[in-house]
Amino acid sequence: MRRIRSKNTAPELLIRSLIFKSGYRYRLHRKDLPGTPDLVFPKLHKVIFINGCFWHQHKCKEAHIPKSNREYWLPKLEQNITRDKENCKKLRKMGWSVLVLWECKTENLNTLRRKIIEFLNSEIVN
Ligand SMILES: [Zn+2]
Repeated sequence: MRRIRSKNTAPELLIRSLIFKSGYRYRLHRKDLPGTPDLVFPKLHKVIFINGCFWHQHKCKEAHIPKSNREYWLPKLEQNITRDKENCKKLRKMGWSVLVLWECKTENLNTLRRKIIEFLNSEIVN
């Protein structure tokens, strides 16, 4: 089983190379920020999380909870959702804009690229 905030997953590497090629520079996994965002753009004051659908309970079929051991999984996954929400709230309070990308949505590269660039170019602060 992967860790909750697993680092350097395939979708993450893909997204990193896509952003790098678009000319943006970032820092990785800054532990001093709530939730250790996967990508941090210090000058833009923006962060990106690349979330695994299961661990962060995306509303898609990848997030299916196993039938066995539900009493183990349910509270654990609920805790993850709560923690994600709290981390986002904290980051926004600190003046960071937050974009969450889901692993299942990394297949369409063009859509993904557009979404990321729109986010990084936007002037809207939260
Ligand atoms: Zn998903």
